[in-house]
Amino acid sequence: MFCPFCNDNDSKVIDSRDSGDTIRRRRECLMCGLRFTTYEKVQTRALLVIKRDGRREDFNREKLWASLRSACAKRPLPIGSIEKVIVEIETALANTGRAEIGSRLIGEFVMDKLKGLDRVAYMRFASVYRDFRDIESFKEEAEALLDPEDPVEESSQLSFLEDEVPINGKRRKAKKRA
Ligand SMILES: [Zn+2]
Repeated sequence: MFCPFCNDNDSKVIDSRDSGDTIRRRRECLMCGLRFTTYEKVQTRALLVIKRDGRREDFNREKLWASLRSACAKRPLPIGSIEKVIVEIETALANTGRAEIGSRLIGEFVMDKLKGLDRVAYMRFASVYRDFRDIESFKEEAEALLDPEDPVEESSQLSFLEDEVPINGKRRKAKKRA
């Protein structure tokens, strides 16, 4: 478990409560001494995701994992980065205290984490996740991220955009079962 304050990975459990599907743990970081709460593993099964079309489905950790992996593919990230992001998102979701949560809000959590982690991964995820009405809004988003003091990053960012941004911006519709 990573400390949300200092990101250290060592913490001790000072309280643990198993209530049905949820194990709620109160932890104290061994590095900075601050306390935080984690809701571990099973709680995600109880969480329902409200999709854009209003249907509900179980929160799926593997799905989140897969989308993060593809967004972060071939990026120079430290080992464990994706796992850390997932744990942070799960904790954030649990901390909302809700039984149902909009897929849009989950996406915002993910983008928020990726933004701080890797800009290319962030843009990849955003390009899949967000409904960019047109290519201009995507460019604005990209330009807002570009750091003028970092020209090397900028050029790799731009070549990424040329290569991988879907031009029509359409999303594949999920197949409905009859
Ligand atoms: Zn800490």
